[in-house]
Amino acid sequence: MPLAHEGMANSNYSCSICGNNTSKWSGRCEACGEWNSISEDIGLSQGPTKSSLGKSRGNYIPLGDLKSNDKPLERTKCDLEELDRVLGGGLVPASAILVGGDPGIGKSTLLLQAAAKFAAKGLKTLYLSGEEATSQVKLRAKRLNLEEAQIELGSDTNLRNILTTLEKERPKLAIIDSIQTIWSDKVDSAPGTVSQVRAAAHELTTFAKRSGTSIVLVGHVTKEGQIAGPRVVEHMVDTVLYFEGERGNQFRILRSVKNRFGAADEIGVFEMTGLGLQQVTNPSALFLSSRGIPSAGSCVFAGIEGTRPVLVEIQALVSPSPHSQPRRSVIGWDSSRLAMILAVLEARCEVQFSGLDVYLNVA
Ligand SMILES: [Zn+2]
Repeated sequence: MPLAHEGMANSNYSCSICGNNTSKWSGRCEACGEWNSISEDIGLSQGPTKSSLGKSRGNYIPLGDLKSNDKPLERTKCDLEELDRVLGGGLVPASAILVGGDPGIGKSTLLLQAAAKFAAKGLKTLYLSGEEATSQVKLRAKRLNLEEAQIELGSDTNLRNILTTLEKERPKLAIIDSIQTIWSDKVDSAPGTVSQVRAAAHELTTFAKRSGTSIVLVGHVTKEGQIAGPRVVEHMVDTVLYFEGERGNQFRILRSVKNRFGAADEIGVFEMTGLGLQQVTNPSALFLSSRGIPSAGSCVFAGIEGTRPVLVEIQALVSPSPHSQPRRSVIGWDSSRLAMILAVLEARCEVQFSGLDVYLNVA
């Protein structure tokens, strides 16, 4: 074990991938199994040292005395239908949203477009970029034809300054791009570490709750262990969205994995074009490969993804096997489920699959 990691008895260590806390350093995280992701939390207070009792009694009200507020949640639409739906119908005031994804996947583009739509409604919108200078953000806006958008741009990484700005401006929406670049001078470690990212996320979500501003935190999915990933703040925010897609492919999926104000597992589909992200309002067309004459072995399955039906094409092929052990090849589905279905077909329907290769593709 390296000397630097032999901390004192009261040291704290946490995993930069999943945020798991341990009292000992180790080369591999016990919680998520990641290697080299554990580092010491420097500058975190070790908890209260004086009496743990506060001065005043908290304010508790009998549940029956509370006036119920059964009005539907007030939401503001960003007018990007795919984004609004993933959010559960629009942006909820005082909410904190995390948008995670690989670097370069298009998070900033998506949020800049959403910010422009939001600002076009006359709602005060702040875009704070800690990654790029304001001139670079302006260049991107120009490429997206959003030059005239009434967004207030800033480039700041100091949490104290950011909170001061937010407090003064009181925007309806503030986008922080990215949470890994923000640092608090109250925490004694480098920007991007677990303790810094957590401290910044905590202060910003607390501000959202207190002020009514909706805050969007951008979080890059990180590969190496030195920079904390978005998972370490997932539990602090109301909504967690991941922006996914493959390099070299123009389609992107925005997926909600947690949403206090809507359904989890909702998806929004976008296409990356020269003019930014375009919505794909009928993703079924995308999942169905060009269909002409119906062909044997192919069928369309209607499933529900979030609140929207999605059509998926399933292709199956069974052919005589030259091998002693026939192949069972599955793309896009669980292979043990295929094995189960084949077993049911053999046992109940007397269809024999021995000596046959089975291929299944969920397009
Ligand atoms: Zn971990």
